[in-house]
Amino acid sequence: MKRNIDINEVSDGKLYEHNDMARLGCNDCTGCHDCCTGMGKSIVLDPMDIWRIEKECNIEFDALVSKYIEFNVVDGLILPNLRQENDKEECAFLNSEGRCSIHKARPGICRLFPLGRIYDDEGFKYFLQVYECSKTERSKIKIKKWIGIEDISSYEKYILEWHRFLKKCEEGQKELDENNKRVLVMYVLKTFYQTPFDISKEETSFYKEFYDRLNKAWELF
Ligand code: SF4
Ligand code: SF4
Repeated sequence: MKRNIDINEVSDGKLYEHNDMARLGCNDCTGCHDCCTGMGKSIVLDPMDIWRIEKECNIEFDALVSKYIEFNVVDGLILPNLRQENDKEECAFLNSEGRCSIHKARPGICRLFPLGRIYDDEGFKYFLQVYECSKTERSKIKIKKWIGIEDISSYEKYILEWHRFLKKCEEGQKELDENNKRVLVMYVLKTFYQTPFDISKEETSFYKEFYDRLNKAWELF
């Protein structure tokens, strides 16, 4: 999801890469779970997020849809995001103790918090959002450790390829009539979300399956 923000207003003014240290660790975290509350439709899920949750929780896509995720229009496509529950607008994955019930399989945007990504023609960098949590006692942690995905280079390549594809879909829609726009929207939803990726295998197999589907989609363009 694109956001139009001035990162100088929300960050410490620096850009980071995955081997950099940043003040990420919240030493005086009270477990208030404000960071998992009132996030609206902003936690948009990519195909790997869905695969991870399905694998970790042994849950099928339809069951996820019935309780934990919902669909919204994002930059011209229909994409899933985490659902909020009750009048407090809490993430549907928060447990009764106010903790994330899928911590090991939490989505990429949750792994980043309080980091954001900023893209350019070459790739992306990370920036630190300094007003997302009111606590100030923060320790320095290496960004790749914070994100907690073993093969960070493959993950970042995947994130970038997915971002480029979504951008192409958004731009490509300007040349399509309404009928073909609908075809594209449904194709992306079916190919990358509704058709399950193999949850019995590990990350390398996920990437292979993903790139097979992505290459086919690029050919159709
Ligand atoms: S908002 Fe800050 S203090 Fe509250 S749970 Fe999140 S990190 Fe901890
Ligand atoms: S998935 Fe977990 S970390 Fe992410 S918003 Fe929900 S409860 Fe918080």
